[in-house]
Amino acid sequence: MELEERVNLVIKKINLFIRVIGLIIFIGIILTFLLGTIKIFSYEFTSKSAMWVVWILWWPLLYLTLFFLGRSWCGFLCPLRFTNQLGNKLNEGKLINFRKWSFIPFVLFFIVVYIEQISGLFLSTKITLSFFIGFLILSILTGIFLKRGLFCRLFCPIGTLLGVFSRLSIIGVRVRKKICEKCSEKWCILGRKEQPCPMFNDVPNIQSNKDCLICTNCIKNCPYSSAHIGITRPGKEIENRINFTLSESYFIIALLGLSFILTNKGVFLIRKIILLFNLEVTGYLLRGFDFVFSIGIFLLVFSLFGIVCAKLNQIKLKGFLTESGYYYLPIVFGIMFFTIFFGFLGPTLHFKDGFISYSKAIILIISGMWSAYLIKKAYSNFFVKILQLIFLIIIFSLWALLLIPANIDTQNTEVTVTPGEIIHMNAYSMGFSPNIINIKVDTKTVMEIKNLDFTHSFDIDELNVHEILKGDSTTLVEFTPKKTGEFLFTCNLPGHTEAGMKGKIVVN
Ligand code: SF4
Ligand code: SF4
Repeated sequence: MELEERVNLVIKKINLFIRVIGLIIFIGIILTFLLGTIKIFSYEFTSKSAMWVVWILWWPLLYLTLFFLGRSWCGFLCPLRFTNQLGNKLNEGKLINFRKWSFIPFVLFFIVVYIEQISGLFLSTKITLSFFIGFLILSILTGIFLKRGLFCRLFCPIGTLLGVFSRLSIIGVRVRKKICEKCSEKWCILGRKEQPCPMFNDVPNIQSNKDCLICTNCIKNCPYSSAHIGITRPGKEIENRINFTLSESYFIIALLGLSFILTNKGVFLIRKIILLFNLEVTGYLLRGFDFVFSIGIFLLVFSLFGIVCAKLNQIKLKGFLTESGYYYLPIVFGIMFFTIFFGFLGPTLHFKDGFISYSKAIILIISGMWSAYLIKKAYSNFFVKILQLIFLIIIFSLWALLLIPANIDTQNTEVTVTPGEIIHMNAYSMGFSPNIINIKVDTKTVMEIKNLDFTHSFDIDELNVHEILKGDSTTLVEFTPKKTGEFLFTCNLPGHTEAGMKGKIVVN
């Protein structure tokens, strides 16, 4: 038996087993959030450990597996698919014209990310729990009212991101064309042992990973071993322009705008613009401004390049914009990969700054070259090719500058505090001011921290000080250091320390 056949056989058998394990872990995490602690044999699993499992382990690793396993998470482990199927079982639901609404998941994705940013989701068990429960309810309701897996296709923000990037994966469900051509029953479409494709894919002609959950239903339904999980050349479906849509093309470019404001230099530049025009935006609106401004600029520049290229190539603008965003997918994937991977895992694994910068540079170069290759293959018109490469070089250079480790906002602001004096501090994206504070040992220290924008945190791990700083408000922090030395203070939101939200307390 060939390796591919053996893998497919194992996958068919273990799918349900893995899904049940995934559901047990998910229920365990929800119970931990609700009860604070659960005991597993002699080990006490606390809500802090659950947060660690969710945001430090699961989220960056999910991203890491994308290249090798595509959307296997959706088909094998996702508890929301389980609950969505539960809804399907309660009521068959309605089939809607989901292709007409294909822009919805992209808009929803940014709305959820904005709420995540202003709410401090990664720091708060309550907010994480609310998100989980909210999406659980949504998955059940969509299961009841909409047919099959339309939740995964239209409403799941994680599935949206995974779907777009799975176009670059090395595995995918494919069919053996010659067998399908002779097959008159089309069990993969009608269903046999299992439900038909939950994503309404045209399985006998499948060529894209984007909307395939790797749920293996079609593999189990096909009696002729045509549908199978195969090894594919990463990005081949982009070269072949499979299932391109204008909204997905714009979504890819919008992700650049999102990545930009997840860097300190990006936010710092936008804040300078706010100061320049004396705009009165504070708190949550400030983060909203970051989103709209940054994403808007990237989409605008992309559209302008598109207009010029479409004119040069004498093709329809809509057609041109629909395809050109996809050629930047590799570089966007590279940028998002290091933003998420180092942002979340960096503080836990204590990577050195130099290692992070070199790794980012290598990922940027490889992913940039991949995008350049796709652009070179896609266009025959010399000027169009050059203009697209210029846009790519702009993206590449911008991120190369963002990766240089020094902060734009490099001035240190230092204060020395006398006993009884209150320390007034500002927290902003992405820094603290003052960022060097001299205090006395065994003396009560009182800090009044004014958070100028969205939710941050103030953490001195070594002194066990942890406070959430709500957006646009002032938080009182009190502690008494019992030892002398230098102690790092940070904002523990993933990526914020790395982006510059740190300083030191010097205890004499
Ligand atoms: S995948 Fe299997 S069931 Fe579907 S058309 Fe091909 S041979 Fe027939
Ligand atoms: S194409 Fe097959 S594996 Fe993919 S979602 Fe549909 S049924 Fe599942």
